[in-house]
Amino acid sequence: MVSEQEPHGPPPERPDLLVTGGDVVTMNARREILAGGAVAVAGERVLAVGATSALRERWPGTPELSADGCVVTPGLVNAHQHHTGDPLARARIPDDLPPGASVGSWAIPLHRAHTAADDGLSALLTCVENLRNGVTTVVEAGTVAHPHRVADALRTAGIRGTVGTWGWDVPGAPFAAPAPRVLDRLRALVETYPAGGRVEGWVTLVGHGLASDELLAGAADLARATGAPMTMHMSPSAADPAHYLELTGRRPVLHLADLGVLGPHLLLAHAVWLDDAEVDALLTSSTAVAYCPWAYLRLGQGVTRAGRHAELFERGGRLALGTDAQNAGDSSDILKAAALAAGLAKDMRADPTRFGAAEALELATIRGAEAIGMADRIGSLEPGKYADLVVHTTAGPEWTPRGDIAHQLVWSADGRSVRDVLVGGRVVVRDHRCVTVDETELRADAARAAADLLHRSGVPVRSRWPVIAAH
Ligand SMILES: [Zn+2]
Repeated sequence: MVSEQEPHGPPPERPDLLVTGGDVVTMNARREILAGGAVAVAGERVLAVGATSALRERWPGTPELSADGCVVTPGLVNAHQHHTGDPLARARIPDDLPPGASVGSWAIPLHRAHTAADDGLSALLTCVENLRNGVTTVVEAGTVAHPHRVADALRTAGIRGTVGTWGWDVPGAPFAAPAPRVLDRLRALVETYPAGGRVEGWVTLVGHGLASDELLAGAADLARATGAPMTMHMSPSAADPAHYLELTGRRPVLHLADLGVLGPHLLLAHAVWLDDAEVDALLTSSTAVAYCPWAYLRLGQGVTRAGRHAELFERGGRLALGTDAQNAGDSSDILKAAALAAGLAKDMRADPTRFGAAEALELATIRGAEAIGMADRIGSLEPGKYADLVVHTTAGPEWTPRGDIAHQLVWSADGRSVRDVLVGGRVVVRDHRCVTVDETELRADAARAAADLLHRSGVPVRSRWPVIAAH
């Protein structure tokens, strides 16, 4: 028997909602699963987790969301997601381009042609997709021109998330500016969206080889001074190590270490191509990593040859999963990313005994929350934390018959089982539909805006196979 847990601090009078009858995967320190359990939600927070009968008896007459026969998990964490540029050009950048070719012919023209309205619309689309896959917290990847539009979209959809803005000082590139101006822009953003809110401003740089030492060090100082975390891209392929070795004589992570950029404030996206000293530098500095395995496979970046993410995880490193962009990984489905992370960990080391579904589910929830610095608020279903939770239906054949819950969530199921989603106690997905947004209208708006954007940007639109008008 699992006893009902009391919340920390003075509890509110009573819950507004009981999510009842599901198998509650708490992801608490003991990783307890409450068979036929319930979650009591009061305002934005979890008030109690316990047996359904006990919570009903304690608070009779409380409205209920029935999760009978379902699996209830904490909301999932997506630690690297582009909100603009790619969403309206989804599945348009070919998957057979040579390395880097998509930037000049696709990414730059698309971002240059993106309007403020496009930013808002593509962010809304991205939020809806994430919510419908059970993602309740999303970290923006640092490629946004109109951050307030993106913040508005996050609020409209009702997702928890971070927002950044373009940060690079390579002369001549779109949205580039001298380091002091980029830092002013980022400072204004993190002041507008302070840490702890539903939408948080983060210090975001594009990273790779697109920032001067002044900008890199200044951004880390800004993060330390404001308490806003920092994120940037590094070493998804062998190109960044080659660039930094030529420019500085050091590998990129060691260069960042020398500049004082590494630390618990930093979430490095990718970090696929690392040598032993770089792995040690990430571990000793408590730098976190956002791991987006589908993107590396889709782009052929060599994760099966070079990736050290399972090792980072097993040595106590801070690691989260991400889904990158709609033309790099493509699907915002963290459960699919979790399955791939576990499969790669086993296959790359030809060792099936380590890193399975349980570890992958930790990455998608509590360990992911820890990596993005939010484990005190999200990542598990425990009294006092935000009521960010997912009800997974088990009506489908992938759940039949029922087996080990972590196995089935990671290896058998995916985002298609996500039936209901709460963020901060608010129901944002019900019966597989996002209820905060008119999805029909959103689809129509996106189709129109995508056609306009593709036309304005002049990117080549092609189909590998002939498409014939047959109506
Ligand atoms: Zn990215």
